[in-house]
Amino acid sequence: MKIILTGGAGFIGSSVIRSLLQKPDIEVINVDCLTYAGNLDSLDSISSSNRYTHEKIDICDKSSITHLVAKHKPDAVMHLAAESHVDRSIEQPNIFIDTNIIGTLNLLEATRSFLQNNPKKFIFHHISTDEVYGDLGKNSTSLFTETSNYNPSSPYAASKASSDHLVRSWGRTFGIPFVISNCSNNYGPFQFPEKLIPHMIISCMQGRPLNIYGDGSQIRDWLYVEDHAQALIKIVLNASSGETYNIGGHNEKTNLEVVTMICEFLDELMPSKSSKHRTYKNLITFVQDRPGHDERYAIDASKIQKNLNWTPLETFETGLKKTVMWYLDNPLWIERIFSGAYFLTRQGAIHKHE
Ligand code: NAD
Repeated sequence: MKIILTGGAGFIGSSVIRSLLQKPDIEVINVDCLTYAGNLDSLDSISSSNRYTHEKIDICDKSSITHLVAKHKPDAVMHLAAESHVDRSIEQPNIFIDTNIIGTLNLLEATRSFLQNNPKKFIFHHISTDEVYGDLGKNSTSLFTETSNYNPSSPYAASKASSDHLVRSWGRTFGIPFVISNCSNNYGPFQFPEKLIPHMIISCMQGRPLNIYGDGSQIRDWLYVEDHAQALIKIVLNASSGETYNIGGHNEKTNLEVVTMICEFLDELMPSKSSKHRTYKNLITFVQDRPGHDERYAIDASKIQKNLNWTPLETFETGLKKTVMWYLDNPLWIERIFSGAYFLTRQGAIHKHE
């Protein structure tokens, strides 16, 4: 089976490729133009496989994408390439519209033209987020299901909601077989350190303030990235066309709880030498909240559990400990990420990280 996977040098895409290539009958073409978030180091373990190819192409480049799909004649597309950081979407929304909406349109059109000339068994798997559903509110106990209304809050979420709509309509109008999955917050190894968990781990390692938006009471449902990768593989291999699957870890935590757990793991694994900060918790600093910050997301993942027999293997405790240990064990990966990368601080300003 030949899969074109977009965004494979990113956090989730690289995890999916590492897992896919463990299956002997799968070939992967990784389409990634390597933005600041793309890092081929994350694919070192599989890059010499003869079933893996990297195509450095921007999905906004329509003619290159059309040519690429026609050339490789895939059995499936797994579409992960996106601008993915909410803070950046508030600073620079345009690029989110270009990549997440126009890029998806290009891929759909390239697929449509390919399938017109090569009718075959095929699936377009669009990888999306639970943020399309908006905010549940702190006091609600309800969960997002596959039929929840779309109500995105940030430019990032709105651009992903738009791309979900495009995929569904290309399925309905042009008959492109598709499946959409909407997942909660991921964490794990190889995540770019602008996102909450790696940002906090690395800030502790560097003795920097742990800046938390508002009072840290926003609730997110966390899923270990390898569990997400396994869910995506089950979906692309088994799901019927037209289906939507919500994916989540049943791990609802406030941001403050997450940061406190990271501090406690690090207190145990790498006790602070600073007399000022005997526990990393002393580095916690509350900063002004970002605009439009959703209070709570939570996923009902019962459909994928029942239909595709998927359940996450990691609890939040085991997954977070593995993640903290991975960042401690990989200072070179961190160093290379920071060399030349522009780092968006949690106060919202863009700084070159020293
Ligand atoms: P990421 O930012 O780590 O990686 C994105 C990848 O896409 C990078 O390798 C980048 O180089 C590539 N890319 C960006 N623009 C491109 C373009 N124009 N052309 C080609 N390649 C391009 O993102 P991630 O966290 O791995 O997320 C992957 C997907 O999963 C995204 O679609 C995101 O919306 C979705 N998602 C992420 C999460 C999460 O918690 N990270 C949760 C749910 C859904």
